Amino acid sequence: MSGTPVTLNMSAPTRGARGKPPRHFVDLTPEQRVEAVTALGEKPFRAKQLATHYFTHLTSDPAEMTDLPKASRDTLAAELFPPLLTAARTLQADGGTTVKTLWHLFDGAKVESVLMRYPNRSTLCVSSQAGCGMACPFCATGQLGLTRNLSTAEIVEQVRAAARSLADGEIPGGPTRLSNLVFMGMGEPLANYKAVMETVRRLVAPAPDGLGMSARNITVSTVGLVPAIEKLTNEGIPVTLAVSMHAPDDELRDTLVPVNTRWSVDQTLDAAYRYFQVTGRRVSIEYALIRDMNDHAWRADMLGEKLNARGKGWVHCNPIPLNPTPGSIWTASDPAVEAEFVARLRAHGIPTTIRDTRGSDIDGACGQLAADEEG
Ligand code: SAH
Repeated sequence: MSGTPVTLNMSAPTRGARGKPPRHFVDLTPEQRVEAVTALGEKPFRAKQLATHYFTHLTSDPAEMTDLPKASRDTLAAELFPPLLTAARTLQADGGTTVKTLWHLFDGAKVESVLMRYPNRSTLCVSSQAGCGMACPFCATGQLGLTRNLSTAEIVEQVRAAARSLADGEIPGGPTRLSNLVFMGMGEPLANYKAVMETVRRLVAPAPDGLGMSARNITVSTVGLVPAIEKLTNEGIPVTLAVSMHAPDDELRDTLVPVNTRWSVDQTLDAAYRYFQVTGRRVSIEYALIRDMNDHAWRADMLGEKLNARGKGWVHCNPIPLNPTPGSIWTASDPAVEAEFVARLRAHGIPTTIRDTRGSDIDGACGQLAADEEG
Protein backbone atom coordinates (compact mmCIF):
# COMPACT_ATOMS: atom_id res chain seq x y z
CA MET A 1 0.00 0.00 0.00
CA SER A 2 1.15 3.53 -0.73
CA GLY A 3 1.45 6.39 1.69
CA THR A 4 3.48 7.03 4.79
CA PRO A 5 1.83 6.76 8.16
CA VAL A 6 1.57 10.13 9.83
CA THR A 7 0.95 10.66 13.50
CA LEU A 8 -1.28 13.70 13.70
CA ASN A 9 -2.15 13.86 17.33
CA MET A 10 -0.97 12.24 20.52
CA SER A 11 -2.32 12.52 24.01
CA ALA A 12 -1.85 10.66 27.25
CA PRO A 13 -4.39 7.95 27.93
CA THR A 14 -7.09 9.12 30.29
CA ARG A 15 -7.80 6.74 33.14
CA GLY A 16 -11.17 7.35 34.71
CA ALA A 17 -13.89 5.72 36.72
CA ARG A 18 -14.80 2.12 36.00
CA GLY A 19 -18.37 1.33 35.16
CA LYS A 20 -20.85 2.44 32.59
CA PRO A 21 -20.23 5.34 30.22
CA PRO A 22 -22.21 8.48 31.12
CA ARG A 23 -25.76 8.73 29.79
CA HIS A 24 -25.82 9.75 26.13
CA PHE A 25 -28.66 10.85 23.84
CA VAL A 26 -27.96 8.02 21.39
CA ASP A 27 -28.56 5.34 24.04
CA LEU A 28 -32.08 6.64 24.61
CA THR A 29 -35.20 5.74 22.64
CA PRO A 30 -37.08 8.65 21.00
CA GLU A 31 -39.56 8.53 23.92
CA GLN A 32 -36.78 8.56 26.51
CA ARG A 33 -35.18 11.51 24.70
CA VAL A 34 -38.37 13.51 25.12
CA GLU A 35 -38.50 12.55 28.81
CA ALA A 36 -34.85 13.51 29.33
CA VAL A 37 -35.32 16.86 27.63
CA THR A 38 -38.44 17.74 29.64
CA ALA A 39 -36.75 16.62 32.87
CA LEU A 40 -34.14 19.29 32.08
CA GLY A 41 -36.94 21.89 31.91
CA GLU A 42 -37.07 22.09 28.12
CA LYS A 43 -39.96 21.79 25.68
CA PRO A 44 -40.51 18.25 24.28
CA PHE A 45 -39.83 19.32 20.68
CA ARG A 46 -36.22 20.03 21.62
CA ALA A 47 -35.66 16.25 21.47
CA LYS A 48 -36.36 16.25 17.75
CA GLN A 49 -34.11 19.27 17.24
CA LEU A 50 -31.29 17.48 19.03
CA ALA A 51 -31.86 14.33 16.98
CA THR A 52 -31.65 16.39 13.79
CA HIS A 53 -28.41 17.98 14.93
CA TYR A 54 -26.91 14.64 15.84
CA PHE A 55 -28.05 12.35 13.03
CA THR A 56 -28.51 14.83 10.17
CA HIS A 57 -25.91 17.52 10.88
CA LEU A 58 -23.70 14.96 12.63
CA THR A 59 -22.90 17.33 15.47
CA SER A 60 -23.13 17.32 19.25
CA ASP A 61 -21.50 20.75 19.56
CA PRO A 62 -23.85 23.31 21.15
CA ALA A 63 -22.17 26.11 19.17
CA GLU A 64 -23.66 24.63 15.99
CA MET A 65 -27.20 24.34 17.41
CA THR A 66 -28.18 27.87 16.52
CA ASP A 67 -31.92 27.13 16.38
CA LEU A 68 -31.89 26.57 20.15
CA PRO A 69 -31.57 29.36 22.76
CA LYS A 70 -27.98 29.58 23.97
CA ALA A 71 -28.67 28.62 27.58
CA SER A 72 -30.80 25.64 26.54
CA ARG A 73 -28.28 24.22 24.15
CA ASP A 74 -25.43 24.45 26.62
CA THR A 75 -27.41 22.57 29.26
CA LEU A 76 -28.79 20.01 26.84
CA ALA A 77 -25.42 19.30 25.28
CA ALA A 78 -23.68 19.03 28.64
CA GLU A 79 -26.31 16.61 29.95
CA LEU A 80 -27.06 14.56 26.85
CA PHE A 81 -23.90 14.67 24.74
CA PRO A 82 -21.06 13.87 27.16
CA PRO A 83 -17.81 13.28 25.24
CA LEU A 84 -17.45 9.49 24.99
CA LEU A 85 -14.59 9.21 22.51
CA THR A 86 -11.30 11.11 22.46
CA ALA A 87 -9.10 10.76 19.37
CA ALA A 88 -5.69 9.79 20.73
CA ARG A 89 -3.93 9.06 17.42
CA THR A 90 -4.83 9.39 13.77
CA LEU A 91 -2.89 7.55 11.07
CA GLN A 92 -3.31 8.03 7.35
CA ALA A 93 -2.44 5.95 4.30
CA ASP A 94 -3.39 5.75 0.63
CA GLY A 95 -3.06 9.48 0.11
CA GLY A 96 -5.31 10.26 3.05
CA THR A 97 -8.20 8.10 1.82
CA THR A 98 -7.55 5.54 4.58
CA VAL A 99 -7.71 6.99 8.08
CA LYS A 100 -7.29 4.97 11.23
CA THR A 101 -8.25 6.49 14.57
CA LEU A 102 -7.30 5.23 18.01
CA TRP A 103 -9.95 6.31 20.48
CA HIS A 104 -9.66 6.56 24.24
CA LEU A 105 -12.94 5.90 26.04
CA PHE A 106 -14.12 7.53 29.28
CA ASP A 107 -12.49 4.84 31.43
CA GLY A 108 -9.20 4.64 29.57
CA ALA A 109 -10.25 1.68 27.41
CA LYS A 110 -9.00 1.92 23.81
CA VAL A 111 -10.62 1.06 20.52
CA GLU A 112 -9.94 1.72 16.86
CA SER A 113 -11.91 2.56 13.77
CA VAL A 114 -10.74 2.72 10.16
CA LEU A 115 -12.32 4.81 7.40
CA MET A 116 -11.64 3.77 3.82
CA ARG A 117 -12.77 5.89 0.90
CA TYR A 118 -13.10 4.33 -2.55
CA PRO A 119 -14.17 5.96 -5.83
CA ASN A 120 -17.82 4.99 -5.37
CA ARG A 121 -18.25 4.20 -1.68
CA SER A 122 -16.89 4.94 1.78
CA THR A 123 -16.57 2.19 4.34
CA LEU A 124 -16.05 2.51 8.07
CA CYS A 125 -14.72 -0.39 10.10
CA VAL A 126 -15.92 -0.03 13.71
CA SER A 127 -15.11 -1.67 17.04
CA SER A 128 -17.89 -3.21 19.10
CA GLN A 129 -15.83 -4.20 22.15
CA ALA A 130 -12.62 -3.01 23.82
CA GLY A 131 -10.47 -6.08 23.27
CA CYS A 132 -12.07 -9.41 22.43
CA GLY A 133 -12.70 -12.65 24.26
CA MET A 134 -12.54 -14.97 21.26
CA ALA A 135 -8.75 -15.54 21.46
CA CYS A 136 -8.10 -16.26 17.76
CA PRO A 137 -4.29 -16.72 17.78
CA PHE A 138 -3.58 -14.81 14.52
CA CYS A 139 -5.56 -11.72 15.56
CA ALA A 140 -3.93 -8.84 17.45
CA THR A 141 -7.14 -8.07 19.35
CA GLY A 142 -7.53 -11.73 20.25
CA GLN A 143 -4.26 -11.51 22.17
CA LEU A 144 -5.50 -8.58 24.27
CA GLY A 145 -8.43 -10.39 25.84
CA LEU A 146 -11.75 -8.70 26.52
CA THR A 147 -11.80 -5.43 28.45
CA ARG A 148 -15.50 -4.64 28.06
CA ASN A 149 -18.46 -4.23 25.74
CA LEU A 150 -19.00 -0.86 24.12
CA SER A 151 -22.31 0.92 24.59
CA THR A 152 -24.50 1.76 21.61
CA ALA A 153 -23.48 5.42 21.86
CA GLU A 154 -19.79 4.51 21.93
CA ILE A 155 -20.21 2.59 18.67
CA VAL A 156 -22.47 5.18 17.02
CA GLU A 157 -20.03 7.94 17.96
CA GLN A 158 -17.35 6.21 15.87
CA VAL A 159 -19.79 6.32 12.97
CA ARG A 160 -20.80 9.94 13.50
CA ALA A 161 -17.16 11.06 13.64
CA ALA A 162 -16.40 9.34 10.33
CA ALA A 163 -19.59 10.53 8.63
CA ARG A 164 -18.86 14.07 9.74
CA SER A 165 -15.31 14.07 8.44
CA LEU A 166 -16.59 12.79 5.08
CA ALA A 167 -19.37 15.41 4.99
CA ASP A 168 -16.87 18.15 5.85
CA GLY A 169 -14.66 17.17 2.93
CA GLU A 170 -11.75 16.18 5.20
CA ILE A 171 -11.06 13.08 3.12
CA PRO A 172 -9.60 13.75 -0.36
CA GLY A 173 -12.22 13.54 -3.13
CA GLY A 174 -14.72 16.14 -1.96
CA PRO A 175 -17.59 15.95 0.54
CA THR A 176 -19.47 12.67 0.52
CA ARG A 177 -21.66 10.38 2.62
CA LEU A 178 -20.72 7.30 4.58
CA SER A 179 -22.22 4.44 2.57
CA ASN A 180 -20.91 1.24 4.20
CA LEU A 181 -20.16 -0.01 7.66
CA VAL A 182 -18.41 -3.19 8.75
CA PHE A 183 -18.19 -4.57 12.28
CA MET A 184 -14.64 -5.75 11.64
CA GLY A 185 -12.75 -3.63 14.14
CA MET A 186 -12.03 -4.79 17.66
CA GLY A 187 -14.39 -7.21 19.30
CA GLU A 188 -16.92 -9.90 18.51
CA PRO A 189 -20.12 -8.02 17.62
CA LEU A 190 -22.44 -10.93 18.35
CA ALA A 191 -20.94 -11.21 21.87
CA ASN A 192 -22.24 -7.64 22.43
CA TYR A 193 -25.52 -8.42 20.73
CA LYS A 194 -27.87 -5.91 22.30
CA ALA A 195 -25.69 -2.82 21.87
CA VAL A 196 -24.74 -3.85 18.33
CA MET A 197 -28.36 -4.37 17.27
CA GLU A 198 -29.36 -1.05 18.83
CA THR A 199 -26.51 0.51 16.85
CA VAL A 200 -27.79 -1.06 13.63
CA ARG A 201 -31.27 0.31 14.39
CA ARG A 202 -29.84 3.83 14.83
CA LEU A 203 -27.88 3.51 11.59
CA VAL A 204 -30.82 2.38 9.46
CA ALA A 205 -33.54 4.55 11.05
CA PRO A 206 -34.55 7.37 8.71
CA ALA A 207 -33.75 10.97 9.70
CA PRO A 208 -34.09 12.53 12.17
CA ASP A 209 -33.96 9.48 14.44
CA GLY A 210 -31.09 7.78 12.65
CA LEU A 211 -28.52 7.99 9.87
CA GLY A 212 -30.76 6.46 7.19
CA MET A 213 -28.15 3.94 6.02
CA SER A 214 -29.12 0.84 4.06
CA ALA A 215 -29.05 -2.37 6.14
CA ARG A 216 -27.51 -4.30 3.27
CA ASN A 217 -24.52 -1.95 3.42
CA ILE A 218 -23.90 -2.93 7.04
CA THR A 219 -21.81 -6.07 7.58
CA VAL A 220 -21.83 -7.93 10.89
CA SER A 221 -18.75 -10.15 11.03
CA THR A 222 -18.66 -13.04 13.50
CA VAL A 223 -16.50 -15.95 14.59
CA GLY A 224 -19.71 -17.99 14.44
CA LEU A 225 -21.70 -17.67 17.66
CA VAL A 226 -24.48 -19.92 16.39
CA PRO A 227 -27.33 -18.97 18.78
CA ALA A 228 -26.64 -15.29 18.09
CA ILE A 229 -26.64 -15.91 14.32
CA GLU A 230 -30.03 -17.60 14.77
CA LYS A 231 -31.30 -14.59 16.69
CA LEU A 232 -29.99 -12.22 14.03
CA THR A 233 -31.78 -14.30 11.39
CA ASN A 234 -35.10 -13.43 12.98
CA GLU A 235 -34.51 -9.69 13.53
CA GLY A 236 -36.00 -8.67 10.20
CA ILE A 237 -33.06 -6.34 9.49
CA PRO A 238 -31.26 -7.58 6.37
CA VAL A 239 -27.67 -6.76 7.31
CA THR A 240 -24.90 -8.63 5.52
CA LEU A 241 -23.57 -11.51 7.62
CA ALA A 242 -19.87 -12.36 7.40
CA VAL A 243 -18.55 -15.54 9.00
CA SER A 244 -14.85 -15.80 9.87
CA MET A 245 -14.22 -19.36 8.70
CA HIS A 246 -10.43 -19.60 8.24
CA ALA A 247 -10.57 -23.43 8.02
CA PRO A 248 -13.09 -25.93 6.60
CA ASP A 249 -12.20 -28.72 9.06
CA ASP A 250 -12.85 -28.79 12.79
CA GLU A 251 -9.37 -30.00 13.62
CA LEU A 252 -7.69 -26.84 12.33
CA ARG A 253 -10.55 -24.46 13.04
CA ASP A 254 -10.49 -25.50 16.71
CA THR A 255 -7.04 -23.87 16.82
CA LEU A 256 -7.59 -20.84 14.57
CA VAL A 257 -11.04 -19.92 15.88
CA PRO A 258 -11.20 -21.46 19.37
CA VAL A 259 -14.98 -20.98 19.68
CA ASN A 260 -15.20 -23.75 17.08
CA THR A 261 -14.85 -26.25 19.94
CA ARG A 262 -18.31 -25.02 21.00
CA TRP A 263 -19.97 -24.71 17.56
CA SER A 264 -18.44 -26.81 14.80
CA VAL A 265 -17.80 -25.92 11.17
CA ASP A 266 -20.98 -27.72 10.12
CA GLN A 267 -23.14 -26.07 12.78
CA THR A 268 -21.71 -22.67 11.83
CA LEU A 269 -22.30 -23.18 8.10
CA ASP A 270 -25.84 -24.46 8.77
CA ALA A 271 -26.64 -21.30 10.72
CA ALA A 272 -25.10 -19.13 8.00
CA TYR A 273 -27.12 -20.92 5.30
CA ARG A 274 -30.30 -20.49 7.30
CA TYR A 275 -29.50 -16.77 7.51
CA PHE A 276 -29.40 -16.67 3.72
CA GLN A 277 -32.63 -18.67 3.38
CA VAL A 278 -34.60 -16.37 5.69
CA THR A 279 -33.12 -12.99 4.73
CA GLY A 280 -32.17 -13.59 1.09
CA ARG A 281 -28.86 -11.94 1.86
CA ARG A 282 -25.77 -13.62 0.47
CA VAL A 283 -23.38 -14.53 3.28
CA SER A 284 -19.68 -13.62 3.19
CA ILE A 285 -17.12 -16.22 4.20
CA GLU A 286 -13.92 -14.67 5.55
CA TYR A 287 -10.71 -16.66 5.19
CA ALA A 288 -7.34 -15.26 6.30
CA LEU A 289 -4.73 -17.10 4.23
CA ILE A 290 -1.90 -18.17 6.54
CA ARG A 291 1.19 -19.72 4.95
CA ASP A 292 1.32 -23.52 5.29
CA MET A 293 -1.37 -23.36 7.94
CA ASN A 294 -4.75 -23.21 6.19
CA ASP A 295 -3.87 -22.33 2.57
CA HIS A 296 -3.71 -25.85 1.10
CA ALA A 297 -5.52 -26.50 -2.16
CA TRP A 298 -7.33 -29.47 -0.56
CA ARG A 299 -8.74 -27.13 2.05
CA ALA A 300 -10.09 -24.86 -0.68
CA ASP A 301 -11.75 -27.92 -2.21
CA MET A 302 -13.16 -29.00 1.12
CA LEU A 303 -14.55 -25.51 1.77
CA GLY A 304 -16.08 -25.37 -1.70
CA GLU A 305 -17.71 -28.77 -1.19
CA LYS A 306 -19.11 -27.90 2.22
CA LEU A 307 -20.56 -24.65 0.90
CA ASN A 308 -22.10 -26.33 -2.16
CA ALA A 309 -23.52 -29.17 -0.04
CA ARG A 310 -25.88 -26.61 1.45
CA GLY A 311 -26.94 -24.77 -1.67
CA LYS A 312 -25.87 -22.69 -4.66
CA GLY A 313 -25.54 -18.95 -4.90
CA TRP A 314 -25.86 -18.32 -1.19
CA VAL A 315 -22.35 -17.37 -0.35
CA HIS A 316 -19.40 -15.26 -1.40
CA CYS A 317 -15.83 -15.98 -0.33
CA ASN A 318 -13.40 -13.31 0.82
CA PRO A 319 -9.91 -14.66 1.31
CA ILE A 320 -7.49 -12.10 2.73
CA PRO A 321 -3.73 -12.51 3.04
CA LEU A 322 -2.88 -12.69 6.73
CA ASN A 323 -1.75 -9.37 8.12
CA PRO A 324 1.02 -10.65 10.40
CA THR A 325 0.82 -9.49 14.00
CA PRO A 326 4.02 -8.61 15.87
CA GLY A 327 5.61 -11.60 17.56
CA SER A 328 3.62 -14.15 15.56
CA ILE A 329 5.37 -16.94 13.67
CA TRP A 330 2.59 -16.90 11.09
CA THR A 331 2.70 -14.99 7.87
CA ALA A 332 0.72 -14.48 4.67
CA SER A 333 0.48 -17.14 1.99
CA ASP A 334 2.63 -16.97 -1.13
CA PRO A 335 0.85 -15.13 -3.96
CA ALA A 336 0.92 -18.30 -6.10
CA VAL A 337 -0.64 -20.35 -3.29
CA GLU A 338 -3.23 -17.65 -2.75
CA ALA A 339 -4.04 -17.64 -6.48
CA GLU A 340 -4.47 -21.42 -6.46
CA PHE A 341 -6.74 -21.25 -3.41
CA VAL A 342 -8.95 -18.70 -5.16
CA ALA A 343 -8.96 -20.69 -8.41
CA ARG A 344 -10.08 -23.85 -6.57
CA LEU A 345 -12.98 -22.06 -4.90
CA ARG A 346 -14.03 -20.55 -8.22
CA ALA A 347 -13.81 -23.97 -9.84
CA HIS A 348 -16.43 -25.06 -7.31
CA GLY A 349 -18.60 -22.17 -8.50
CA ILE A 350 -18.04 -20.05 -5.39
CA PRO A 351 -17.78 -16.32 -6.19
CA THR A 352 -14.47 -15.34 -4.62
CA THR A 353 -12.69 -12.02 -4.24
CA ILE A 354 -9.48 -11.35 -2.37
CA ARG A 355 -10.29 -8.81 0.29
CA ASP A 356 -8.64 -5.44 0.13
CA THR A 357 -5.69 -5.05 2.50
CA ARG A 358 -5.82 -1.31 2.78
CA GLY A 359 -4.06 0.22 5.69
CA SER A 360 -1.74 -2.71 6.40
CA ASP A 361 1.07 -0.17 6.59
CA ILE A 362 -0.75 1.58 9.41
CA ASP A 363 -1.34 -1.60 11.37
CA GLY A 364 -4.72 -1.86 9.71
CA ALA A 365 -5.21 -5.37 11.05
CA CYS A 366 -7.68 -5.60 13.81
CA GLY A 367 -6.33 -4.41 17.16
CA GLN A 368 -2.75 -3.77 16.14
CA LEU A 369 -2.68 -0.10 17.04
CA ALA A 370 -4.23 -0.61 20.46
CA ALA A 371 -1.95 -3.61 21.07
CA ASP A 372 1.00 -1.41 20.19
CA GLU A 373 -0.04 1.18 22.79
CA GLU A 374 -0.36 -1.47 25.47
CA GLY A 375 3.17 -2.59 24.66
N1 SAH B 1 -14.80 -10.82 15.78
C1 SAH B 1 -15.35 -10.66 14.49
C2 SAH B 1 -15.11 -9.30 13.85
C3 SAH B 1 -13.74 -8.65 14.03
S1 SAH B 1 -12.39 -9.30 13.12
C4 SAH B 1 -14.87 -11.76 13.58
O1 SAH B 1 -13.98 -12.51 13.98
O2 SAH B 1 -15.40 -11.92 12.49
C5 SAH B 1 -12.73 -8.98 11.42
C6 SAH B 1 -12.05 -9.96 10.48
O3 SAH B 1 -10.63 -9.78 10.48
C7 SAH B 1 -12.28 -11.41 10.88
O4 SAH B 1 -12.58 -12.17 9.73
C8 SAH B 1 -10.93 -11.80 11.47
O5 SAH B 1 -10.75 -13.18 11.46
C9 SAH B 1 -9.99 -11.03 10.56
N2 SAH B 1 -8.63 -10.88 11.08
C10 SAH B 1 -8.24 -10.73 12.36
N3 SAH B 1 -6.90 -10.65 12.44
C11 SAH B 1 -6.43 -10.72 11.18
C12 SAH B 1 -5.12 -10.70 10.60
N4 SAH B 1 -4.04 -10.57 11.38
N5 SAH B 1 -5.02 -10.80 9.26
C13 SAH B 1 -6.12 -10.93 8.49
N6 SAH B 1 -7.38 -10.95 8.97
C14 SAH B 1 -7.54 -10.87 10.30
